[in-house]
Amino acid sequence: MAESMKGLHRTHRCAELSVKNVGETVTVMGWVQKNRNKGGIIFVDLRDRSGLLQIIFEGKDISEEGFAKAEKLRSEFVVAVTGVVTKREGAVNSNLATGEIEIRANDIRILSESDTPPFPIEENSKTKEELRLKYRYLDLRRPDIQKNLIMRSKVATLTRQFLADEGFLEIETPLLNKSTPEGARDYLVPSRVHPGTFYALPQSPQLFKQLLMVSGYDRYFQIAKCFRDEDLRADRQPEFTQIDMELSFVDVDDVIDVNERLLQKMFKETIGVDVQLPIQRMTYAEAMDRFGSDKPDTRFGMELKNVTDVVKGCEFGVFTGAIEQGGSVRGINAKGQGNMPRKKIDALTAFAKDFGAKGLAYIQIQEDGTIKSSFAKFMTEDEMQALINAMEGEKGDLLLFAADKDKVVFDVLGNLRLELARQLELLDKNVYKFLWVTEFPLFEWSEEQNRYVAMHHPFTMPMDEDIHMLDSDPGKVRAKAYDIILNGTEIGGGSVRIHQDDIQEKMFEKLGFTTEQAYDRFGFLLTAFKYGVPPHAGLAYGFDRLIMLMAKEDSIREVIAFPKVKDASCLMSDAPNVVDDIQLEELNIDIKKVEEEQ
Ligand code: ASP
Repeated sequence: MAESMKGLHRTHRCAELSVKNVGETVTVMGWVQKNRNKGGIIFVDLRDRSGLLQIIFEGKDISEEGFAKAEKLRSEFVVAVTGVVTKREGAVNSNLATGEIEIRANDIRILSESDTPPFPIEENSKTKEELRLKYRYLDLRRPDIQKNLIMRSKVATLTRQFLADEGFLEIETPLLNKSTPEGARDYLVPSRVHPGTFYALPQSPQLFKQLLMVSGYDRYFQIAKCFRDEDLRADRQPEFTQIDMELSFVDVDDVIDVNERLLQKMFKETIGVDVQLPIQRMTYAEAMDRFGSDKPDTRFGMELKNVTDVVKGCEFGVFTGAIEQGGSVRGINAKGQGNMPRKKIDALTAFAKDFGAKGLAYIQIQEDGTIKSSFAKFMTEDEMQALINAMEGEKGDLLLFAADKDKVVFDVLGNLRLELARQLELLDKNVYKFLWVTEFPLFEWSEEQNRYVAMHHPFTMPMDEDIHMLDSDPGKVRAKAYDIILNGTEIGGGSVRIHQDDIQEKMFEKLGFTTEQAYDRFGFLLTAFKYGVPPHAGLAYGFDRLIMLMAKEDSIREVIAFPKVKDASCLMSDAPNVVDDIQLEELNIDIKKVEEEQ
C-alpha cells in the first residue's frame, strides 16, 4: 500500500547529512538499498542521488505500527523516514560519506513498493549491458551512472556560464531542416502537409550558426542535438550532443584562446584537473609524420620514424618496391619488447593487415645482442646496423616496419602504436593530454567519387599563404581548420569560414559543384552572404565523448541517459517501430513489403 506525502517535507538528501547534524530531527526520502532485520533492530541503507545513509529502526524509538512497516521493507521500496541524527554506535563505515552517523527513525511512510528488480542496483555492475539498457530507468539509479550524469550537467552549466561571461548568446536552431547532403547520411522526417517531401534532422547547426553571424549576433553557442545516420561504433550514437559555437571578426587564434580557457575551467571545476595553457599545437603534417594519425595520443612516445632513405639501397623487395611506387618505409620502436614471442608478433601482423598492410617486417634485438629479423637475409650487416641506429634500437627492443603508400603506412603504424600501448598498459586514464591539430588539408581525394571532397566542410577557409595553389595544386592547400584532441580522441573541431565569394566559388568549383548545384544545396547561405557577411569562425565539441573521457568511461553510452545500441535501436522503448496505417496514409507513405528470407 502506497502512502501519500501529505504534510511531509524532505529536509535533506541522504548524503547531505554528517556529524554536524547530530541531534537534529530530519526527514529523508529515497530507495531502500539494503535491509537487515536483526530481531529487535532493523538496519536499512537508504539511497538517493546524493548517496547512502544508514537508518535504524528499534522499538524504543518508533511505534509498533512504524516498526511493522520497517519489517516489510524490500529492496527499491520508496520510503520517507523521519528520525534523529546520531553518532554511529557500531563501527564507522569509512567508505561512506555518511559513515559516521545514522538516523534513529521515529516515523516511516512507505511511499511505494517495488517488485524485485531484474538486477541489483549497485556500483560496478556485472549485469549484461542489454539487460541494463532494457531497464535503463533502474540502471540510471546506479551511483556510477548518476555520477556521470551529474558531471554532465555540471559541465553544461559551466559551459553556459563561461560562454555567457565571454559574450556568447545561446540561440536555438531548427531540427526540421532541408537536407543538404554532404558528410553523413541524414535522418529524414516525412512532411504531411507537403506530400512526398522530407525534412532532414541536422547533422550539425552549421549553416544556421553561420547565418546568425550574418545577422550580427557576433557570438553564438548552443548545446545542440545532432543526428547522423551512420554505422555505429562504440563511441557513436545516431543522435548526439554538441557544444556548438560561432564567433565573428576572429581568426584561428581567437577561437583557440576562448576554447582553451573553457576547457581549463571545465576540467578544473569538475574533476580538479589543471590544464596547462597554452595547449600544445601541432600541424596535421607533423601529426601524421610523428604519430601516423591526425588525432595523436600524446600520453606516450613510440613515435614513427621515416627510414626510407636508410633502406632505399637494400635488396629487400618489400622496402624498395614501396619506395619505387612513391611510398615510404617507416617504423616504430617497441622498447623492451625484443623477446616478444613469435605468436604475438604474428598477431600484430594480422592486426596490421586489418589496416591494409601486406605484412609487417620486424627486428628483435635480444638481451644478449643477437638479432632476429624477418628480413635479415636481404640486408648487409652494415645496412642492418644503420637501420637499427636510425630507429635508436637498443638491446631488448622490438622494431616494427611498414612499407607502402604513405596513407597505408600511417594508418598501419598509427594503429599499431596504439595497439601496443594498450597491450603494454601505457594508456593512463588519469592523465589528460590535450593537443590542437591545425593546418588540415583543405581537400581530401575521394577514390569512390573520383573528385576532391572537403576535409572539414565546403565553407572552410584555405590558409592565406596557400590560396594561390587552389588551381594549380589543390591537394596541397591547407585549411584554417583545427581539431582539439584529448588522449587520442577528437573531442572537437572547427574552422575559419570563407566569407569572400570569389574564394567560395573557387571552392565549389574544386569540389565539382556548378554554381547552380551549390545554390540548390546551400542557396540561402550563399544569398545571405551577399548582404554583408562578417569574417567568422567556429568550433563544435562532441559533448558525449568529452564527458566520457572526463568520467574515465570506455563508452559514451555510460554518459548518455537513454542511449541507443549499435543497430540504432532503443532496447527500453523499442524504437524505431512500426506506426499505424492511418499515420502512413496521412503521410502518403507506402511501405514496400520485403519478402522475408527464410
Ligand atoms: N559543424 C562542424 C562539425 O560538426 C564544427 C564546426 O565547424 O564548427 O564538425
